[in-house]
Amino acid sequence: GGGESVKVAVRVRPFNQREKDRGAKCIIKMTGPTTYIQNPDTPNPKMFGFDYSYWSHDGFEDEDGVLVAKNDKYATQRKVFDNLGQGVLDNAFEGYNCSLFAYGQTGSGKSFSMVGYGKNRGIVPITCDELFQSIDRCSDGTKFEVTFSMLEIYNEQVRDLLTKDNPKGGLNVRQNPKLGLFYVEKLKKVAVGSYNEIERRMEEGTANRTVASTQMNATSSRAHTVVTITFDQITKNEAGQETKKSSSINLVDLAGSERADSTGATGDRLKEGANINKSLSALGNVISALADQSLGKKKVVVPYRDSALTKLLMSALGGNSKTIMIAALSPADINYDETLSTLRYADRAKKIKNKAVVNENPID
Ligand code: ADP
Ligand code: MG
Repeated sequence: GGGESVKVAVRVRPFNQREKDRGAKCIIKMTGPTTYIQNPDTPNPKMFGFDYSYWSHDGFEDEDGVLVAKNDKYATQRKVFDNLGQGVLDNAFEGYNCSLFAYGQTGSGKSFSMVGYGKNRGIVPITCDELFQSIDRCSDGTKFEVTFSMLEIYNEQVRDLLTKDNPKGGLNVRQNPKLGLFYVEKLKKVAVGSYNEIERRMEEGTANRTVASTQMNATSSRAHTVVTITFDQITKNEAGQETKKSSSINLVDLAGSERADSTGATGDRLKEGANINKSLSALGNVISALADQSLGKKKVVVPYRDSALTKLLMSALGGNSKTIMIAALSPADINYDETLSTLRYADRAKKIKNKAVVNENPID
C-alpha cells in the first residue's frame, strides 16, 4: 500500500570501561548506510541496510569536552541532528506530527543520542533550540504556541514527570471516542516560550524519574520516557480568516531492551524487567503486524491495546506521523546476542508505513 516508511538509523558507540576491562573486540563494521555484525563464533558477518548507519566508535574529546570527529566516517551529535532532527523540525513547521524513538539495550547509547551528556547535546535539545531560533527569526505575524509534557511508563503505569504527586497506580490512559487515539488523562502540559524554559522543564522531569540501578548501568532508567512537544502556528489570510497548523512531536527514550536474565535481576527488579518486556514485546508485536500489513497480508490485527506504550505510540506507528527510529548498538563481542536482536528489531521497523497528513484547520 501507500504511505511513507519509518526512517531507521543505527549508531555504534565507543567501548565502555567494562568492555575495555574485558578486552572486548569490535564486531560492528559500517560502510555507507550498511551495517555488518560479526558473530564471534562463525566466519561470515551478517549484513543490514538502514537509512543511516552512524559510526561513533572512535571520536575524541577536544579541550572543551566536546566529542569531535577523528575521521570522515565519525558521526558527531551535530551530524545526527542534521540528518534526523532537522527533518523533524521542517516537518513540524509544515504541520506534520513527528515521532523519534530510541531503542537498544541498557548502556548502548539511547540517551546519549536523544538527550546527550554535558556539552554533547543530543537530538532533542538541539531540535528544541533550533525550533525557538526559527520562531524568533519569523517576522510575518504568525503566532506560535508551544507546550511541553513529559511522562514515564514504569511497570505499565504512567507517571507525570512534571509533578511530584502522581496518583497511586498511575494516571489513566483513555481513548478519545471520536478520534480513536489514546491520551493520558490529567497529564500536565505546560506552555513554554523559550528554549531555556524547555531545558528547565526537561531537568525537572529528569529529576522526577524513577531510577533503579541494575548491574549493567547504575544510572540507567528502567522506564520508558516520553517527551511531547506540541507546536501550533496561527496565521491570518487576506480575508482575515485565522487558520491553525498543529504539530505534535513525540520523543521517546525506551527502556533497555535486554532480557531480564542478562542483567542479573532478581525479585522486584525481575518484575520490572517482566513489565518492561511486556511493553517492549507489545511494541515488537505491533511492529511485526505493521510490517505484515505493509507486505500486503490481509486481516492483520495490530495489537496496540496490549500495553500503555503501544497505546500512546499508536499514531507514531502506522498512523498520522512521520516517524524515525534510532537503534543504539554496543560495539563489543560480549554483547553480540543483544546487538543482533537490536539490528533485527530495527530491520523490522523499516517495513512500517505511516500516513502523515498536514494538520491545518480554520479557527472559528
Ligand atoms: P542508554 O541510554 O542506552 O542506557 P547511554 O546513552 O546512557 O545509554 O550511554 C551509556 C554510556 O555510553 C554513557 O556514558 C554515554 O556517554 C556513552 N555513549 C553512548 N553513546 C555514545 C557515543 N555515540 N559517543 C560517545 N559516548 C557515548
Ligand atoms: Mg538511558
